[in-house]
Amino acid sequence: MAHFVDLHTHSTASDGIYSPTDLLQQAHDVGLKVLALADHDTTNGIEEAVAAAQRLGIELIPAIELNSDASGDEIHVLGYFPEYQRPEFQSKLTVLRDARERRGQKMVEQLNEHGIHIRWERVHELAQGSVGRPHVARALMEAGYVQSIPEAFEKYIGNGQVGYVPRYKLTPEDAVCFICSANGLPVIAHPLTLPGLEKLREWLPDLCAAGMVGLETYYGPYTEEEEQQLLALAHEFSLIPTGGTDFHGPGIHPTPLGGRHVPYEAVKQLKALAEQRRGLTPPPFELPPPVEEK
Ligand code: AMP
Ligand code: ZN
Ligand code: FE
Ligand code: FE
Repeated sequence: MAHFVDLHTHSTASDGIYSPTDLLQQAHDVGLKVLALADHDTTNGIEEAVAAAQRLGIELIPAIELNSDASGDEIHVLGYFPEYQRPEFQSKLTVLRDARERRGQKMVEQLNEHGIHIRWERVHELAQGSVGRPHVARALMEAGYVQSIPEAFEKYIGNGQVGYVPRYKLTPEDAVCFICSANGLPVIAHPLTLPGLEKLREWLPDLCAAGMVGLETYYGPYTEEEEQQLLALAHEFSLIPTGGTDFHGPGIHPTPLGGRHVPYEAVKQLKALAEQRRGLTPPPFELPPPVEEK
């Protein structure tokens, strides 16, 4: 069914399958009017996406997705409308992406040590931008070790498996402050997938104090009951309920592009808040030092 708004998608600038131009063409074909591109640790797809969106009459919302760790649990933080041209924002994103390259190499080394023969050169070819585990998963698929990307996570590269290597460590507060340092709007991504309702409730007061402004409520596979629970939490903590599919292309997440209803009200609220922040001097932010790499 056609929906108009999708506020969570990925492109080849990180671990999506489609280029920003192809993604926008598909968005147009399924009837979307508003699309946010939220690649992992990069905004490098946004200019191409904006140009394609203009040609197709789609409203493109610049965004980003950062991962963070809270004592072993993961929280992903979306950032809407960051002033991404800011050089200090870009230089810090480069630090995160460089760390992703080293991590990718290390994952391949660990897999090789366990008799799984994939090559870093191939992973690097598959990753046209920010390197992620889905690129390693695709190399594992090509080499015949697994039949699907989820199977690669389950057997080889999920947390606790032989190929797993952690990412550059940001706390959820770091991720929020990083986004705020470019006047962006931090939103908790897929809150039930990670970290889950109970922990979320515990963590929300601190996350809100750090500057979180939204909660991804209308997320791809969430049931109506889950949506209602999240909507109630969003109201309780005065967070903007946002949503999207987390579309990466076929084979990574189940929901097709535009396959979830997201109210336009979410877009209106995000735009209004972004408008208030635009051009203000943002709070400063420093990345935490990298954890010693072995
Ligand atoms: P990374 O940021 O490199 O650790 O990779 C995480 C990305 O892999 C997430 O953004 C998801 O899109 C994808 N992912 C995580 N777990 C799975 C899974 N079990 N099956 C398929 N894709 C996954
Ligand atoms: Zn991803
Ligand atoms: Fe995510
Ligand atoms: Fe995502």
